Amino acid sequence: MEHAQPLTLLAEDELLFRDSVREFAERRIRPLVREMDEQAKIPRSLIDQLFDLGVMAIEIPETYGGAGATFFHAVLAVEEISRVDPSVGVLVDVQNTLVVNALLRWGSDDIKRRCLTKLASGSVGAYALSEAGSGSDAFALTTRAREDGDHYAITGRKLWITNGNEADVFLVFATINPEAGYRGITAFIVERGFPGFTVGKKEDKLGIRASSTCELIFEDCRVPKANVLGEPGKGYKSAIETLNEGRIGIGAQMLGLAAGALEHAIKYTKERKQFGKPIAEFQAVQHQLARAAVEVEAARLTVYNAARLRDAGRPFLTEAAICKIFSSEVAERVSSLAVNLFGGNGFVKDYPVEKLFRDAKIGQIYEGTSNLQLQTIAKQILG
Ligand SMILES: Cc1cc2nc3c(=O)[nH]c(=O)nc-3n(C[C@H](O)[C@H](O)[C@H](O)COP(=O)(O)OP(=O)(O)OC[C@H]3O[C@@H](n4cnc5c(N)ncnc54)[C@H](O)[C@@H]3O)c2cc1C
Repeated sequence: MEHAQPLTLLAEDELLFRDSVREFAERRIRPLVREMDEQAKIPRSLIDQLFDLGVMAIEIPETYGGAGATFFHAVLAVEEISRVDPSVGVLVDVQNTLVVNALLRWGSDDIKRRCLTKLASGSVGAYALSEAGSGSDAFALTTRAREDGDHYAITGRKLWITNGNEADVFLVFATINPEAGYRGITAFIVERGFPGFTVGKKEDKLGIRASSTCELIFEDCRVPKANVLGEPGKGYKSAIETLNEGRIGIGAQMLGLAAGALEHAIKYTKERKQFGKPIAEFQAVQHQLARAAVEVEAARLTVYNAARLRDAGRPFLTEAAICKIFSSEVAERVSSLAVNLFGGNGFVKDYPVEKLFRDAKIGQIYEGTSNLQLQTIAKQILG
């Protein structure tokens, strides 16, 4: 039997990859964080650099122009980028853990050749499941696809779609038969520019403001049958399975956010003086920082464990739900502590932690709210 390795011990290629993403995040993303938050936009030039770095096509095989690496590498990239900016983190996360992941798993050779090549060479992907009336109850969706010769015609609206403004490739879930319930749900690949498809309003958000969250509008949008991902009526399966994996990516985003907030807090408390000494010398502050370090380490173990189980082909459903709910709660607590430890400076935009505090909230909402994660965990432990 192979020796199981310690969860946080990185293989040489993982270490090199992590360090290169970290350096990129510090050099290229860090200087833009405040401006991106204020302008609610990730500049295309930065997205191009993410492609050049190789983090937009981590699991795409080299034959299609990707890095041919693992899901764990994707998790490392999302963690490192989110340490600096969780908005850029989620752009990379959706691309890899949802869109590319689904295409690798269910795409025909033709779809892989066409779409993965695009996604590896400059096209951003988006994952469109939610609608105004169907969030937690995702399979109550009403976007309708009607068969029409060698095409389907899609009509309906999607809401809350991450990367909506930047994406060229949209994975869209619609029903081909509303009477069949979830068994009518089918996954389609819709490309920007398909007639009848428009990207609508962009949301004005509390956090991850630079990440676009948009409405998608389909009015008799014609999609070739060759763009059905997997079998018609089996879209529910690809949605459930990709979201189970995507959840680990959100765990990584929240882990990175928490680690970033803790680093800011450590640095600041060593510099800020009150009562004649750095506030980090007060035992009360030391214990708060130590407790945060405990939480970040625990979150990292849950995220890495879920990701490594997934790469090992082992069941990981419960572990993914655990890592998502736990890391998002840790992100909220640690970023809140960081705001407290910065004092008045924690409350203003000249310092980085108020943004991380705002960014943390989304972790408990998207890709299954915390209540839904608890439901999954409860179902597993109660049998
Ligand atoms: C910034 C952002 C980005 C997003 N990106 C995407 C994306 O890229 N693609 C996409 O498809 N979607 C996306 N979403 C949608 C997101 O996944 C949903 O908002 C989320 O699933 C919750 O759905 P809802 O908003 O309809 O809330 P609801 O489902 O209405 O939930 C409201 C509250 O009720 C609780 N609740 C609901 N049902 C139950 C239950 N059975 N038991 C206990 N409590 C329950 C929830 O936990 C929550 O607290 C995004 C959302 C946001 C805000």
